[in-house]
Amino acid sequence: MTNALSELLSTRDWLLADGATGTTLFNMGLQSGDAPEFWNFDHVDRITALYQGAVDAGSDMFLTNTFGGNASRLKLHGGEKQVHEINKAGAEIAREVADKSGRKVVVAGSVGPTGDIMVPMGSLTFESAVEMFHEQAEGLKAGGADVCWVETISAAEEFKAAAAAFALADMPWCGTMSFDTAGRTMMGLTSAELVKLVGKLPNAPLAFGANCGVGSSDLLRTVLGFQAAGPEQPVIAKGNAGIPKYVDGHIHYDGTPELMADYACLARDSGATIIGGCCGTTPEHLRAMREALETRPKGPAPTLDAIAEALGGFSSESDGTDGGGPTRAPRRGRRRS
Ligand SMILES: [Zn+2]
Repeated sequence: MTNALSELLSTRDWLLADGATGTTLFNMGLQSGDAPEFWNFDHVDRITALYQGAVDAGSDMFLTNTFGGNASRLKLHGGEKQVHEINKAGAEIAREVADKSGRKVVVAGSVGPTGDIMVPMGSLTFESAVEMFHEQAEGLKAGGADVCWVETISAAEEFKAAAAAFALADMPWCGTMSFDTAGRTMMGLTSAELVKLVGKLPNAPLAFGANCGVGSSDLLRTVLGFQAAGPEQPVIAKGNAGIPKYVDGHIHYDGTPELMADYACLARDSGATIIGGCCGTTPEHLRAMREALETRPKGPAPTLDAIAEALGGFSSESDGTDGGGPTRAPRRGRRRS
């Protein structure tokens, strides 16, 4: 089966993904606690500008403004009956921007976590997770998304539920988890365990990987962990632009465009094929990343020391693939990529 993403993957050595959705929308006036998905109806101009920013900076694909567009998340804002329309609208605006770009740009329908903890630790069953993700995937498909893209996941069961939902919607997909707890996801998964999980899925993703988490150094250590486990699919790297700092009442990421350019090339050297940013990554960062990927030659996989020297130290001694680190540190929370 071919689609826009698999076509690009078959002709290119690397693809530039997009940057931050949340950071950009906050800069456009989104208030903490608001659901940005309603902007797919109320502020079409701002969502168009969000997407256009990535396309103009050279992104080969970008995510839709639908991260929190599942029934469980939208229910917090009284929007649980609008799942289909919200996702369809987010994808339609994206489709228009991508089709006007004059080149092949992939619309990836963003699917974030449900925000609920799955059984047995929480109350969300596998079946209801599949149902929620399926509803969202159908909306994204109706709006013209090329692929579904589940991101910032920390539980293996939730990742599997998304995969099952995308099969029901007959949509190709990609998936990334967030390794933010000493190299593991907050539910304890290591990079090697995600490779194993992906290898066992009945409907394999087009690509898989890591997004968000701590800094870009940690993210690259995770990418090296994927490669060490022998992945069968292309690897995605979407790291944050540095470390969040609280400045004048808002969150600021300290990673410069130059740092993200180095990160992008190190990500490619580490074995990532789809390379983008997460929180704090602006079009200015993306432009620097594109230029670096186009002009600097691919090098050998970096050592951990070389990564730390270029991008800063790691948040923990081990990434858990040696059995170290916490195995379980669940907490509830809302995060936006
Ligand atoms: Zn993020």
